[in-house]
Amino acid sequence: MIDIGANLAHDSFDADRDALLQRAWDAGVEAIVVTGSSAASNEQALQLAQAHPGRLYATTGLHPHHASEWDETIAARIAELAREPQVLALGECGLDYFRDYSPHPEQRRAFVAQLGLAVQADKPVFLHQREAHADFHAILRDYRRALPGCVVHCFTDGAEALDAYLALDCHIGITGWICDERRGLGLRELVRRIPAERLLIETDAPYLLPRNLKPTPKHRRNEPAFLPWVLQAVAYARGEDAAQLGAQTTANARRLFGIA
Ligand SMILES: [Zn+2]
Repeated sequence: MIDIGANLAHDSFDADRDALLQRAWDAGVEAIVVTGSSAASNEQALQLAQAHPGRLYATTGLHPHHASEWDETIAARIAELAREPQVLALGECGLDYFRDYSPHPEQRRAFVAQLGLAVQADKPVFLHQREAHADFHAILRDYRRALPGCVVHCFTDGAEALDAYLALDCHIGITGWICDERRGLGLRELVRRIPAERLLIETDAPYLLPRNLKPTPKHRRNEPAFLPWVLQAVAYARGEDAAQLGAQTTANARRLFGIA
């Protein structure tokens, strides 16, 4: 398994990052793409990738929550980081009208700029979309042909959005959201429509602790070692064998991100 999205730069991992990585390898995770989403986490994601060659990789980008911080300085630094061989994708970038931490025009500006940087760097994009499908799709559609690949990470939207992203030949990242017996039911239906070769799995750690996890840890922190619970929930929803689906999603991740 490859965890294509884990926020390992998060400070909740500062005390036990090495132990957490060991637990991930012991659980059958082969590699982790560490999400960069802010000026600080981009640097830390690259440092982690450099310290764990062949196991950890990084993305570099500015999350829509932080879009107001977009300026020439951060744009130049992201362009520079995108040239590093350990940085496999631009992002996390996109639009989030649910939390709405940055004004919409500023979110769109930062998103468009980062898609441009991905085209320049010839790297795929790691995308975030929440409650912003129409604007997100309109912007992505304009850039899609020029991008070498893209994944809509932590997909939680409906059928219309899913079909639109698949029509743009996007990969779809599924998190432990699908393990949630309260709000994951729609996703359990939808995940069956995703072609096997477009499916990716991720923890989005430390967020989205799988609710099917047994025993439930005392803290609510998610970590890459829990990726098998996401895989099992996706396989169950699709009526497929978990080991086979694990191999398929791993091959998908290697192809999209160019992991040898
Ligand atoms: Zn996200």
